[in-house]
Amino acid sequence: MICETMYSLGSKRSCIRELFEYGLQQAAVVGKENVFDYSLGNPSIPSPPEVNEAFTSIIQNRDSLTVHGYTPAGGCGEARSAVAEDLNRRYNAAIRPENIFLTCGAAPALIAAIRALAVADAEIMAIAPYFAEYRPFVEANGPKFVPVSADTVSFQIRFDLLESLITPYTQAIIVNSPCNPSGVVYTRETLERLAALLTRKSRETGHPIYILADEPYRELAYDGAEVPFIPNIYPNTVVCYSYSKSLSLPGERIGYVCVPDRAEDSQRLYAAIAGAARVLGHVCAPSLQQLVVARCAAVRPDLAAYDRNRTALYDALTSYGYQCAKPTGAFYMFVKAPGGDALAFSNRAKEKNLLVVPGGDFGCPDFFRISTCVSFDMIQRSLPVFKTLIENP
Ligand code: PLP
Repeated sequence: MICETMYSLGSKRSCIRELFEYGLQQAAVVGKENVFDYSLGNPSIPSPPEVNEAFTSIIQNRDSLTVHGYTPAGGCGEARSAVAEDLNRRYNAAIRPENIFLTCGAAPALIAAIRALAVADAEIMAIAPYFAEYRPFVEANGPKFVPVSADTVSFQIRFDLLESLITPYTQAIIVNSPCNPSGVVYTRETLERLAALLTRKSRETGHPIYILADEPYRELAYDGAEVPFIPNIYPNTVVCYSYSKSLSLPGERIGYVCVPDRAEDSQRLYAAIAGAARVLGHVCAPSLQQLVVARCAAVRPDLAAYDRNRTALYDALTSYGYQCAKPTGAFYMFVKAPGGDALAFSNRAKEKNLLVVPGGDFGCPDFFRISTCVSFDMIQRSLPVFKTLIENP
């Protein structure tokens, strides 16, 4: 017999994938230049030059057996040290290499952290709009998924609602800032309020409620927006980081979990995350990528192209009458669907070969997501379609 849950997860394509594949089919029919695909969050700027130089130099100069061999499960010492040093230099974070566990990206990092907290009756919260994969990541690993409805004006946090949903079983809350899909960055004030609430609730429930900080977009912030290092605000924070977006390496699968010493039960939590990774088949993160991280942990992307796209789309769409919180991070915009039904709007747009993702799976069915990691040229060609769609509801 086959497990129905896994069958359903593996056979049902995500709405994003479906749109993306539809776009490829349409390109063959109407021409690539006539399809405006805003579906995927695949980086559209090349990796910084230091990254490719590191790849070449490692391959040319290091012993091949080391480059391609197994490393300790948590990663090689030089990569973990480089990550810790970078965090300490930037945030004065008191992170030791032993707090870092290198993973194959943020998704496995997050799943290992979720599993490490998956005690009986566990509940894990996420704030809408949230990355659509959170629900299956949580539910398929045991805990109950508890979404907190969105503040659809500023896309910060509805604290009254959040507080009312915390129970004695709440183990963690996933915090994703800069956010996919809203592009919004939580302010320091929001995070401090969250920390105060979780500290109070942890005391009441008698156990820590952890923040799982999912941070693939940490380095992607604009207009000088501050992205605070959450463990410095709330000690019971586990950071799940990825180089997929910051170094444009999504297919190379490299990221890490960081469990700071100041988190309650940190050593046991770190060990449980290592155990969870083990039963998920983690042996080590790709060793070549670890060596790249050892050299490039402090390298940051050049965001000029993303910033130009963000500004062009935000200015044009709002001038046509679309409503949208101005994104100051990541490479997404979350726009209110004219007429209120984002699925209907997305279908209407699809007829004009404009592919935008309806927000139902992100917990906001009246918004749609645009990925702004696209070519500037495509943005220019797509604007008349956006204009037509709002002028002719
Ligand atoms: N979390 C969020 C919010 C994401 O947007 C993504 C990827 O798009 C991930 C996690 C997964 O990232 P990774 O490629 O590092 O596994």
